[in-house]
Amino acid sequence: MSAIRGWCPGALRPMESGDGWVVRIRPRGGRLSPAQAAGVARAAAAYGNGLIDLTGRANLQLRGITQASHAPLIADLRALDLIDPDIATETHRNIIVTPFADDAADALAARLEAALAASALPLPAKFGFAVDCGPTRCLAGVPADIRLECSIDGRLMLRADGMALGRPLADVSQAIGLAAWFLQQGGAPGGRGRMARLIGRGVTPPATLAPAPAAPPASPGRTASGMLLALEFGQTDPGTLAALARLGPIRLTPWRMLLLEGLTDMPDLPGLIADPSDPCLRLRACTGAPGCPQALAVTRPLARSLAPHLPDGAILHVSGCAKGCGWPHPADITLTATPAGFDLIRGGRASDSPLMRGLAPARLPEVL
Ligand code: SF4
Repeated sequence: MSAIRGWCPGALRPMESGDGWVVRIRPRGGRLSPAQAAGVARAAAAYGNGLIDLTGRANLQLRGITQASHAPLIADLRALDLIDPDIATETHRNIIVTPFADDAADALAARLEAALAASALPLPAKFGFAVDCGPTRCLAGVPADIRLECSIDGRLMLRADGMALGRPLADVSQAIGLAAWFLQQGGAPGGRGRMARLIGRGVTPPATLAPAPAAPPASPGRTASGMLLALEFGQTDPGTLAALARLGPIRLTPWRMLLLEGLTDMPDLPGLIADPSDPCLRLRACTGAPGCPQALAVTRPLARSLAPHLPDGAILHVSGCAKGCGWPHPADITLTATPAGFDLIRGGRASDSPLMRGLAPARLPEVL
C-alpha cells in the first residue's frame, strides 16, 4: 500500500512526512501494558528511525517507516493487539480516555468502543469521543465531539461539544444515538463537520445537567494514579520507552506526558522533564536537520538553547521548514527556517506571514 497524505494518519493508513511515513498507533483505552510498551519500543527501533511521538490526542506515532518496513511493523503491532481489523474501524475509533481513569471509566470506554464499532456510523474522520468522568474534568481543553463526563452532582452525563449542559447517561447506546442525531441534523455535509459547529448553528439536543468543574492544566509530578512524566518535544526513543515499560503500565495523555501507573518517584531517564517550571515544557520543534531531508536548519538543539530566553509562559515553536510538522497550531513565537535564515512569526503557524525575516541563529536570543 502507499502512504496517504492527510491530517488523520493511522497504522493501516500511514501519512507521508519529511522523514518518511508516520504510523499512528491508538492503544485501546489510551493504555499500554508493559509488554505492549516494550513491543512498541522494539518496533520503533527495528522498522522506523527510532523517533516516537506522543500526539495531542494521546496516540503514539512511529516515524521514519518505509514502504518495505510497514508490513512487518503492522504484523508485530497486530500481535500486540494494537491494530484494528480494517482502516474504517481504525479511523472511527477516535476515543480519548482520561489518564486518571478508574476501573469503571475503563469499562465505560471499552463499551463505547464496542458500540461505536458495531454502529458503523459514517462519522467524519476527525469526529471523536472523550471519556472524562472523574470528579474534575481533565479533558475539557482537548477536542472531542461527544463527551461522557461527571455532572456537578456526581452523576454520569453525556454532553454534545459546544453545549453548556448535558443529560444523564445510563448506557453508551445514548452516545451512539447522539452521534446518529448529529448526522441526521446535517452535521457532516460532504462527510466533514464537527459537533460544536452544528450546535453553533442553533441545532441543539435536550440537556439539563451541568458538568463537573474543569481541572487546571496538568504538570509533571506525582498524582493519585502515578507519576506524570513530561517528554521533551513530546517525543521519546526506544531506549527510554523500554525502560519505562519495565516500571509498569503506561497511560497516554494529550499533554505530551505519560502517566506511569503506581509509580511514586521520578525515574532518572533521558528526555524526561520533571520540573513543572522548566521552560523546555514550552518548546515545540520538528525533527529538523539532519533527520529530515526537507529541513533547512537544525531545530531541537536551537530550541533548547533558546529556552532560557523565552518570555514567561510563552510557547516557542522552531520549524525546519514552513510545513510545521512539529506543531500544527499557532504558537506565541514561531521560528521557521528558510534558505536565508529564520523567519519570526508572532501568534501564528510556521507558514504564516513573518514579522521579521532572515534572522541568523546568533541573533535569536536578543530578538526573543
Ligand atoms: S516541518 Fe520539519 S519535519 Fe516537517 S518537513 Fe519541514 S523540516 Fe521536515
